[in-house]
Parts: sequence; C-alpha cells; structure tokens
Amino acid sequence: MAKVMAVNAGSSSLKYKLYEMPEEKVLCSGNVERIGHEDGIFGIKFGSENIKITQPILDHSRGVELVLEALIKYGIIKSLDEIECVGHRVVQGGKYFSKSAEFDQHNADLIESMTPLDPLHAPAHITGWKAFKAALPEVPAIAVFDTSFHQTMEPEDYLYPIPYEMSEKYDCRRYGAHGTSHNYLANLAIEHYFGGKAEGSRILSCHIGSGASLCAIRDGKCVATTMGLTPLGGVMMGTRTGDLDPSVMDYLCTCTGKDVHEMYDIFNKKSGLLGVSGISNDTRDVEEAAEKGNKRAILTSKLFARRVADFIGQYYVRLGGIDLIIFSAGIGENSAYFRKAILEDVQEALGLKIDYELNAKVRGREEILSTPDSKIKVVVIPTDEEVMIARDCYKRITNGAI
Ligand code: AMP
Repeated sequence: MAKVMAVNAGSSSLKYKLYEMPEEKVLCSGNVERIGHEDGIFGIKFGSENIKITQPILDHSRGVELVLEALIKYGIIKSLDEIECVGHRVVQGGKYFSKSAEFDQHNADLIESMTPLDPLHAPAHITGWKAFKAALPEVPAIAVFDTSFHQTMEPEDYLYPIPYEMSEKYDCRRYGAHGTSHNYLANLAIEHYFGGKAEGSRILSCHIGSGASLCAIRDGKCVATTMGLTPLGGVMMGTRTGDLDPSVMDYLCTCTGKDVHEMYDIFNKKSGLLGVSGISNDTRDVEEAAEKGNKRAILTSKLFARRVADFIGQYYVRLGGIDLIIFSAGIGENSAYFRKAILEDVQEALGLKIDYELNAKVRGREEILSTPDSKIKVVVIPTDEEVMIARDCYKRITNGAI
C-alpha cells in the first residue's frame, strides 16, 4: 500500500487528491482557492466531512502548508512520510514529453521554456511543484501531461499548413489537450466494451466540459484530436471559440480597434456558449433559457451541437468507421439536452439508434445510450483524470521510473 498525491495547480488555485494505491481509494480531496488573497479559501473533503475555511493564503507555498497540516490535523495520515509520490498535472508537454516524467529541475526548466505555448498554466505548474518540493523535499515528484497521449498523431494530423520552416523553428503544431482524460476513457472503454483488447478498436471520445475536445482513438492510441496548438482550437466551448477562419482575428481587430492580445482574450474568455448566448458559459443556464424559448439560447445550443457533430463526421472518416462513441466531462456526463442535440445531428448519417428516454435520465454514471440495433455503440463514461496521475505515481514508486 502506498499513499500518493495528485495535484492540479492553477494560477490562483491548487486542487489535490490523496490516494491509497494500488486500491485507488480516495482518502481526501480538496481545493485551495483564491491563492494570493486575504480571503483565500482552503477546502478539504474526507469521509462525510466537507470543510471550507476562509483565511489569508498569500501564495502557493502557504496553500501547500495548509493541505499538509490538514492531512495530519484531521487524522488522514499520521506522518508526512506516508506520502510516497506527488503527481502534478501539466497542461503542455510540447514535443518533449510523450509520457509522464520525473518532475526534476531539468524537466521543470523544459516545462518553463514552453511558457509561450501556455502562459496561463505553465508558471502555475512550476509554482505548485516548487511549493511541494519545499514542503516534501525527499518525496519524488512526477509530471503528467495533458498533451502526451496525443503524441502518437501522425504529421498529417498534427501539422498546420503554414510554412514548414515555421512549424519546425517554432514548434508550431497541434498538441491537443485533455489527453489524460481521453486516455482514461479509452482504457476503461477497452476493458468494458472490447474485452480488454485494444487492437482493432475504433473509439471516438468526446470530453465535453467547460473546455471541450474530441479524440479519435485507434488500437487504444490517439490518431487525431480537436484542440490545437493550445486548448483554444477545435469545438466550441464554454467561453472559447474553437476553430475559426484565422482572418476573423485580423478582421475583428480592424473593425474594433482592439489589438491581437485583446481579441485573443475575447476568443478565450468571452466567446463560446457565453459569447453567443449572452447568457452564461454554463450549459445549465443556456438549456434553461432555451427551454423557455429564448431564441439566442436555442441558436447557441444548435451551434454548439453542430460544431461537435462536424468533428464526429470528420473522425468517422479518419478512423475508417467508429465502434464506440463516449460522452464525458461536465456536459457529456450530465447534460441530456446537449447529448441529444449532438446525437440528433449525426444519427442519420451514422446509423445510430438512441434510447432518448434513457438518455434523459443519465447523469454522472456509466450507461449505454444506444439500442442493440444501433450501428455504433454510444456510452456515457464519467472521466477521472486524477486517478491516472495516481496510477503513474504508483508506477514511479514500484518501478523507480515511469
Ligand atoms: P467540466 O469543465 O468538465 O467540469 O464541466 C463543467 C461544465 O459542465 C459546466 O460549465 C456546465 O456547462 C456543465 N455541467 C455540469 N453539470 C451539469 C449538469 N448537471 N447539467 C448540465 N450541464 C452541466
């Protein structure tokens, strides 16, 4: 038995989950929010407890101290020595990481060097790593990358049709994201629906949450994914545009007088469900307004579904057919309304037969939505990115490497 910590450090937050491995038992989880503020929020959940304490949390180091103190204070562990590995989620692994890696100074430098590719997360990952390293200097740390699952893509799938020298010189290409989630979903689907045999399986994984991406998976490996150089690409999302004609940037800058950075911010934070509906980035609000007849909300839902449906069609061709479609993440797991809107857009072409009455009842649990006569099986599977981090931590402890 070993205890490992899965960590997701953001710019002002730090999510954590302590596991007992190899049982994959969650001992506690929590979130430190509003780091850098006098009214920071420390949160921890264990057993039936759900504790939130507002207090000054001026930096990540203080956040980590609070987490470790709480583990002892609430009797979750007796000594910090029980933690054998800390696994950090890292959004961008660029061309360097095709699997999880030791989070040491050398790799920290590589991650930091990719800050231009991920200015939002890379500095936060480094800060989180440093804070844990200071508190637990003897404990090995690993980095688990959102991009590594996508490193099996072929150049035809990851290159952009820009001057080749620019792709090469600036490493400007599709990296994808949500890879840890797509990998988890593919592994579970292969166990549950392909008798554990990856070979020959053709899976389309739809991770649709506030960030959304689709991944075409053959033989258990990624062949194509919708997110691009950054998570801005691909399908429409909560606040992100997804793919656009690049001239939209130039045209709107000219029209509005805004510069590229301001417009980029709008494409990332004020577009998608929020931008089109003018209501919210949350499907629950958009859905409620659509059901009351709000025309913009109805249009938003249709646009969202169409963008996903278009990629499903594209990946049907890319995979040479699909055996299984997975819906996952906040929207995919919980929104019957959006699942239906997407499935209705593709069902005729793909020969899908869906039990929509069942669909209406499925929320946050694994379930087969298609009927036995459907040409493609359609399932909902809740994702679990943290357990993938915990599994790699356990591998690191037992093998000494990943
Ligand atoms: P995620 O980023 O995977 O946590 O997904 C968060 C998003 O999922 C929210 O912004 C909502 O749009 C959507 N969502 C979460 N719960 C529900 C629910 N019960 N019904 C509909 N949509 C939901």
